[in-house]
Amino acid sequence: MNARWIELGDGVFTRRYEELDLSTGLVLGEQRCLVVDTRGDAEQGAELAAAVRGITPLPWTVVLTHDHFDHAYGVPAFLPCDVWAHPACWAELVRADRAARAGLPVTDRVELDLGGRPVVLAHPGVAHSPGDVVVHVPDADVLFAGDLLEHVPGGTYSAESFGSDTALDAWPAALERLAAFGATTVVPGHGEPAGPDLVESCREGLLALRGLRRKVRAGELTEEQAVAHSPLPADVTLAALTKPPA
Ligand SMILES: [Zn+2]
Repeated sequence: MNARWIELGDGVFTRRYEELDLSTGLVLGEQRCLVVDTRGDAEQGAELAAAVRGITPLPWTVVLTHDHFDHAYGVPAFLPCDVWAHPACWAELVRADRAARAGLPVTDRVELDLGGRPVVLAHPGVAHSPGDVVVHVPDADVLFAGDLLEHVPGGTYSAESFGSDTALDAWPAALERLAAFGATTVVPGHGEPAGPDLVESCREGLLALRGLRRKVRAGELTEEQAVAHSPLPADVTLAALTKPPA
């Protein structure tokens, strides 16, 4: 296991993992800290919890950016505590037997006060999953975007960005809502933190993929032709063309 903390602003950190190129988050207030995502199982969650304790003794609150295992399944290591997530994320975690019942809901927008530090939890619309939540830290100009953004070396998304629960048609509009936060640092769910340009390059990539998929579905292009026209790698393009139902 290879991991490191990066301080993005005063008391705002991401913990980066070599495994899956995962990025988790930590925001410190005067009274509480907020942990953004929990890694992939109870053991990994315990590693992250211990690493958080290496930075702060403050009681924690957890927010889950979405229900995918690599972000959400480490949550038992943090309990008991407040856990925030979108209702669709809770529904999936209960269905997968990863939560006994739904916790605190982020339906649209929730403002938390960590003690002298407000943070905003927001659902930007269906996108990578039905229940994505992003975390904005206004006084540090940092946005944790979960898997709405990905930042592979030299590019944006990977084939894993697109699943059967992804809404490709709606995703670009969700990124416009992300851009409206105006954060100077954005943290993708996988990959290195970046500037606001990453939001725009991700949005352009999604628009291209959405356009190609429309042409394939209309019979104007074959999948092979769409792959040849795509600005993204072949495996990423094929995943976007074939996995998301909408
Ligand atoms: Zn995901």
